Amino acid sequence: ISVKLVRNVASGAPTLADFKIESTSVPTKESLQNDQILVRTLYLSVDPYMRGRLSGAQDSYVESFVAGKTLFGLGVGVIEASTSPDYKEGDIITGDTLKWECKFIANARGFTKIPASSGISPANYLGILGMPSFTAYVGVVSLAKAKAGETILISAASGAVGQVAIQLAKARGLCVIGAAGSDDKVEFVKSLGADAAFNYKTCGDLTAAIKKAAPNGVDIYFDNVGGEFLDAALANMNSFGRIAECGMISQYNATEETAYRVKNLIRVVPKRLSILGFIVSDYYAKPDYANFITEVSTMLKEGKIQYKLHEIVGLENGPQGLLDLFEGKNFGKLVVKVASD
Ligand code: NDP
Repeated sequence: ISVKLVRNVASGAPTLADFKIESTSVPTKESLQNDQILVRTLYLSVDPYMRGRLSGAQDSYVESFVAGKTLFGLGVGVIEASTSPDYKEGDIITGDTLKWECKFIANARGFTKIPASSGISPANYLGILGMPSFTAYVGVVSLAKAKAGETILISAASGAVGQVAIQLAKARGLCVIGAAGSDDKVEFVKSLGADAAFNYKTCGDLTAAIKKAAPNGVDIYFDNVGGEFLDAALANMNSFGRIAECGMISQYNATEETAYRVKNLIRVVPKRLSILGFIVSDYYAKPDYANFITEVSTMLKEGKIQYKLHEIVGLENGPQGLLDLFEGKNFGKLVVKVASD
C-alpha cells in the first residue's frame, strides 16, 4: 500500500480525509534500472515538521507534499535487491526520502547504511541516534551553550526532542524543569532526571507554574511549543537568557483567527535575551554532528541515556499518527512500524 495526500491544507487542522490509502502493485527486482535499490520499508518517522509539508507552501525549508502523490520522509528500510555497487541485499539503510509505501524502488543516493552489528534496533536511528536527538543537541549544546549551574526549561519535555534535551542538560549539570501534557508524561520527565516537572494543562496560571518550578528564573528556554507557553517562559527569563527556538507546535494548525499573539516579546530588550531559531538540517555538515554521535552513542553504551519510542503498527495507521502529534496523543518518539526487520 501507499499513503497519498488528497489535498494540501494551508491552515487549520488536517483530518484523515486529507490522506488516502491506496493499494499499489508491488515493485520487483526485475524493474530495477542501473544504480537503483529495491527497499522494503521497516519504520517511518512521524514528525511535527511534516505539518509544513502538508501546507503546499513553496517558500518552506522543506519540500511540500503534492496532492495526489505519495508522502515521504525519514525512515529505515532493508534492501531487497540492488543494482548499485554501494548496496547489497540485506543492508539496512536510513534516509529522509523514504516513501510511505511498503516497498519501493529508489535511486541509490542520499541513504546511509546502518552498521549491521551495532546491536541497536533500527528504529533508534529515527530517535536517539537520529534527527530529533540531534535537534536536542543543537539546541542545548551548539546554540544555547548550556553551562553547569544554569536553569533550563523544556516544553513538550516527554517528546522525541524534549526527552533528549533533558538528559543532555542534566549531563552538563544544569537544573532542568520540564513541562508536559499529562501526569504520566510528567512522571516520565522526572524519571529522566528533571529536577522539577509539571503538567501545563492542569497547573493553572502558566507564568506562576514556571516561577514555582524555577524560583531563581530561567537561563535557557528550549521552546518546542510556542504560543502561550512561550509567553509565560518569556516572563520568567533571567537577563542574558537564551531561547533555543526549536519549534512552535501549538501554532502549526492555527488560522489567522486562532493564532496566538505573544505579548511578552517586549522583554527581549531590557533582559538582553537571545532568540536562537534553528533548523537541524543546517548542522549535519558541521563538527557538531560528529560530536553529537560520539557523546550520545557513548551514553547509550554506558546505559546513561534512555529513550522512549511510541510505536504504531501498520502503514495505514500513519496518517492518524501524524494527526495525533498535534493532540499530544504520542508518548515518546512516534514511529510507524511498517514491517519486521
Ligand atoms: P513530540 O514527540 O514532542 O510530539 C509533539 C508533542 O507536542 C505532543 O506530544 C504534545 O506533548 C506537544 N503538543 C502538541 N500540541 C500542543 C499544543 N497545542 N500546545 C503545547 N504542546 C503541544 O515532537 P518532537 O519532539 O518531534 O518535536 C517537538 C518540537 O520540535 C516541534 O515543535 C517540532 O516542530 C520541533 N522540531 C524542530 C526541529 C528543528 O530543526 N528546528 C527538528 C525537530 C523537531 P504534550 O502532551 O506534552 O503537550
